[in-house]
Amino acid sequence: MPFYDYKCGECGHTFDEMLRIADMEKPTKKKCPSCGKKKVEIVVGAASIVDSVRVGITKPDKGWQEVMAKIKEAHPRNDMSKKSKQDWMH
Ligand SMILES: [Zn+2]
Repeated sequence: MPFYDYKCGECGHTFDEMLRIADMEKPTKKKCPSCGKKKVEIVVGAASIVDSVRVGITKPDKGWQEVMAKIKEAHPRNDMSKKSKQDWMH
């Protein structure tokens, strides 16, 4: 489950909350852990897991690299078409 960033509209305190994707659109019922006011708002688009992948902090894991290697193996035609094109040019 991804973490979402919340910010208190009263005191500006920010904190993370783990949330189901299905609950993302719902307004939080959490109180601000700092001042106790119910002015907490989700920081839109701040799902930590998405951000870290997008900016390249989180690298694709080994499983993903293996998948990519298998895709290349399964499609050797890409290289063959290049070669045949070069032969054709001669
Ligand atoms: Zn607060």
